[in-house]
Amino acid sequence: AQETARKPSWIRVSRAESPEYGETRRILKANALSTVCEEAACPNRGECWSNRHATMMIMGETCTRGCSFCNVATGKPDALDAFEPGRVAQAVAKLGLNHVVITSVDRDDLDDGGAAHFARTIRAVRHQNPTTTIEVLVPDFLHKGTAWTVVVDAAPDVFNHNLECVPRLYPSVRPGARYYQSLRLLDDAKRRNPQGFTKSGLMVGLGESFEELRQVMDDMRAAGVDFITVGQYLQPTPQHHKVDRFVPPEEFRRIAEMARSKGFLAVSATPMTRSSFHAGADFARLQAA
Ligand code: SF4
Ligand code: SF4
Repeated sequence: AQETARKPSWIRVSRAESPEYGETRRILKANALSTVCEEAACPNRGECWSNRHATMMIMGETCTRGCSFCNVATGKPDALDAFEPGRVAQAVAKLGLNHVVITSVDRDDLDDGGAAHFARTIRAVRHQNPTTTIEVLVPDFLHKGTAWTVVVDAAPDVFNHNLECVPRLYPSVRPGARYYQSLRLLDDAKRRNPQGFTKSGLMVGLGESFEELRQVMDDMRAAGVDFITVGQYLQPTPQHHKVDRFVPPEEFRRIAEMARSKGFLAVSATPMTRSSFHAGADFARLQAA
């Protein structure tokens, strides 16, 4: 409650009251699908679900990593469900999505980190929804060799992998990950499929400096990253990483300006930006331009 009380006015939790919200929830439940919207306790759920936009989370609700900012449970995950790709495809059809974002927990327990399951899901969604554009938000496939190529070869429209924070903060924020591994994954994905868009995101308010953000943006551009998202980190529970500060909206405007000046094709940098927030609308705008 203390945490809530000291949140500034520009941090808003959107309301979940519309009939569309209920319908989105019903369709997801009927297809036994998890969403990062719920698992991460995302504050934008009211708005997104009312617009029938949800980010599906495949390969279970238990993650093999334990990032200090993330609300997803850590532990030993369940076996993969061979019917899940079909259910995702079905839900996309029922929701009538023009653009879908599919993400997953980390599956360090699997030989390929879940790459083949991702690829099957992309194909199933495309087969049933040929006009829907597909964005995947993938794990880093650390120590999984070239497993990631299977995902890129399934040709998602957008290949997204979040760097999450500046490299100095990795040991406390993403202890299981390596900054340069994540950066290399983005670079490799772009080289393998230059026609596909790549995307990455950062949370701010974790203790980074403006100069460090500038460096990460330069790294992303050097790796050919097309789209960037930057949002305020919020602490999901008192056990998670502390918020260092709430970055004010005018600073977000400076961050967005800096990103645009570096040549990103799409930039979303606001306090409530999340990796998948307005992803469909942003992508449609870009395609129309
Ligand atoms: Fe879900 Fe992304 Fe919207 Fe949050 S911003 S509710 S995770 S679709
Ligand atoms: Fe959460 Fe992803 Fe980290 Fe797992 S790898 S704890 S799902 S952020």
